[in-house]
Amino acid sequence: MAKRRKTVVWILGDQLLCSHPALAQAESEDGREQMLVVLVESHGRLTKRPYQRKKLVLLLSAMRHYAADLRRHGYQVEVVKAASFGEGLKGIVASWRADQLICMAANDFNGRRFQQERLPDLLNIPVVVLPNRQFLTGQYDPYPDAEPEKRYLMEYFYRKMRRHFEVLVDGDAPAGGKWNYDRENRKPLPKDKEPPPIITFEPDAITGEVMEEVAILPTAIGTSTGFDLAVTREQALLAVEEFIGRRLVDFGPYEDAMSSQHSLLYHSKLSAYLNIGLLEPMELIRSAEAAYQSGAAPINSVEGFVRQILGWREYICWQYWRLMPAIYDWNYWEARHPLPRFFWDGQVDLACLNHVLRQAIQTGYNHHIERLMILCNFSLLAGVKPNEVNEWFLSTYIDAYDWVMAPNVLGMGLNADGGLIATKPYIASANYINKMSDHCGSCRYDRKKRIGDDACPFNTLYWNFLIQHEERLRANPRLGPNVLGLRHLDDHERLAVQQDAGRFLDRL
Ligand code: FAD
Repeated sequence: MAKRRKTVVWILGDQLLCSHPALAQAESEDGREQMLVVLVESHGRLTKRPYQRKKLVLLLSAMRHYAADLRRHGYQVEVVKAASFGEGLKGIVASWRADQLICMAANDFNGRRFQQERLPDLLNIPVVVLPNRQFLTGQYDPYPDAEPEKRYLMEYFYRKMRRHFEVLVDGDAPAGGKWNYDRENRKPLPKDKEPPPIITFEPDAITGEVMEEVAILPTAIGTSTGFDLAVTREQALLAVEEFIGRRLVDFGPYEDAMSSQHSLLYHSKLSAYLNIGLLEPMELIRSAEAAYQSGAAPINSVEGFVRQILGWREYICWQYWRLMPAIYDWNYWEARHPLPRFFWDGQVDLACLNHVLRQAIQTGYNHHIERLMILCNFSLLAGVKPNEVNEWFLSTYIDAYDWVMAPNVLGMGLNADGGLIATKPYIASANYINKMSDHCGSCRYDRKKRIGDDACPFNTLYWNFLIQHEERLRANPRLGPNVLGLRHLDDHERLAVQQDAGRFLDRL
């Protein structure tokens, strides 16, 4: 009879899937008693950059809860603290005398390279890397023969995904008659509208212990105090239930709204759970679809939400794998300024930036429009170096991972790719911020002025950007009309805008 192999199953911290393919494979090959499940807490990884404490608590607590749950189900599990993933795995492979290691392909480029190229030599045993099944594009690729330089629009990508997975469709037609309800959405929040509070979770003993460890981690930013996120799949499912039952109904109309009073509005705050595998994309999509079918939520809200997950999230992941590693060399707008220090402490006198940055540092969360139209808009207009902006985002958010951050920040947010991911740079003056939020009313700057000491810097920088990049912008059919506004500026005003912008940027 052939000798039964001993297998180490390595579960990565952002792959806490309720049915993990590596567990199933190892169990079917040699049985549960022949396998040891390992989760590695790598000190090197946790301190690689100044990470948000709430993110570290979420990740470590979710890993430890996942391990405890597997033990309850009869698995042998070890949570290893080590200097690096390699060190941790080497130690466990040696002490367990493992014959092979099984894992699922990492969600990010460098992680996969490590698994495939370095790990077999480091461990000196066969390493089986199973296909990643955390994303829907792992099951269906809408453009299997995509060309490197070609543009693939999110809208058509998303329609293919809807048809393939039969989401919100009646036969070949979109449910409700339209593929896109963006026009019905994009409303500011009315003054008297009060979004419901979000469900929170009291830290248990495991989370409490992690909070104490993370509180004294010298490299981290923010605070672990007040941590109230879900750390198990059961809790994450409660968060889904709460979102679908209470906020989905108004998700569509107010998805682009910003408020100084409400940080979440009608958003789901589920990205952090999706990105570590506590939730899976299709279960969220089907829950939202069921709310439409039962009449609990209208089509514009349900389609808007499904678009975020089946559309944007999958599109971003698909673009990441198509464009890596070139993404990190992009700097289409030739930005050269360092990231302003106020990104790290929120000490800035623009009301919108101050509010958004303080939220980010304190909670590790901003909703999409705050990330895109406040932080990235400012960084693009101010010419901040793309990689410095990306590093800040990677450090600060509870849902930040390389695969999702790089295309969002460098592509969508800063247009550093010249338009492969988003067809136009998302730039806007104070006019947009005032239309979609209540920040300008309490700000020391005048949202109507573009020059002078009290002019809103978003205006000065916006017009300066148009002047600086007039030729390039004119060539973009989606931005031509904005550039036309420059006709109304005489030479004297152009010069004043450029001088004021220069002074503002020097002060940064
Ligand atoms: P909701 O508004 O409730 O949307 C539902 C879900 O859709 C989200 O949970 C998310 O999973 C998904 N989604 C929507 N848009 C995107 C998108 N562009 N890319 C990926 N998923 C999307 N998302 C992250 O998960 N991690 C990040 O690090 C991240 N960084 C971003 C940086 C920038 C500059 C921008 C413009 C966007 C970024 N996003 C990121 C996308 C999006 O802003 C967040 O997913 C969203 O704000 C999370 O909040 P929510 O769960 O309340 O989202």
